[in-house]
Amino acid sequence: MKPFDENPRIAVHKFSSCDGCQLAFLNLGGDLLTLTQRVKLTHFLEAGLDDPDTPVDIAFVEGSLSTPDEVKRIHQVRDNCRYLISIGACATAGGLQALRNLDDKHDEWRDAIYARPEFIDTLTHARPIASEVRVDYELWGCPINSRQLVATINSLLFGVPPFDDSEKLCLECKRQQKVCVMVTEDKPCLGPVTRTGCGAICPSFGRDCYGCYGPAENTNTASLSRRFAGMGLVPEAIARRFLLINSASEAFNRAGLAARTAGEDEDGK
Ligand code: SF4
Ligand code: SF4
Repeated sequence: MKPFDENPRIAVHKFSSCDGCQLAFLNLGGDLLTLTQRVKLTHFLEAGLDDPDTPVDIAFVEGSLSTPDEVKRIHQVRDNCRYLISIGACATAGGLQALRNLDDKHDEWRDAIYARPEFIDTLTHARPIASEVRVDYELWGCPINSRQLVATINSLLFGVPPFDDSEKLCLECKRQQKVCVMVTEDKPCLGPVTRTGCGAICPSFGRDCYGCYGPAENTNTASLSRRFAGMGLVPEAIARRFLLINSASEAFNRAGLAARTAGEDEDGK
């Protein structure tokens, strides 16, 4: 890996998403102007730049693959860039849209929600970007934050691989000397299995982490599920802790479905 010969061109692409992760760029404020002295933004619709086809050095992709058109478009993005970086839970794990993967009543939901369902053309499963094309780096979170973004761009500018921040949220929480809401208040915190990056915002405000940064490295979800059960959560409540924003990530999906199956087994007795 080597630095770019000249200021790299950057594109920001939107797929199925709420646009919240693109705000990590706009929230930079004045620093975004400083950044543009080192990079050239070519495509970023939310900032008024509309040029999706020019080849770029770095393509940031927000959102999941939820329609046949998006599957086609992601291949064009991949062909047009040197580094593809997926940003946010939607792009890295399917996001909230992937909740529909847990249900097979897609047609019933569509017909109940939309006035003209015949115009809706979606995939049965919402998928992460890496399920279709090669992804060079992933920034997890719902939403990601500006610090992650700048650190990633700076790393690439210096020709070093971006740091994959996958340690557990509990470590960040302890470094900030927050009082543990699970130990002191019996709140079902997902911090022991969630990757850091958010700055431990929820525990800072006395609430439990709900896993929006996705699974950390070496997760022990089985142990945490037993802890939740010991706190009085029924299996379906445990399942819902895991099956939320990152329900399609492997570790959380496995843990959530295991809790759900345990609940069904209990009901069947
Ligand atoms: S990850 Fe969250 S904030 Fe980012 S686009 Fe998806 S829903 Fe919005
Ligand atoms: S509050 Fe949550 S994130 Fe913080 S130490 Fe306790 S379990 Fe970990």
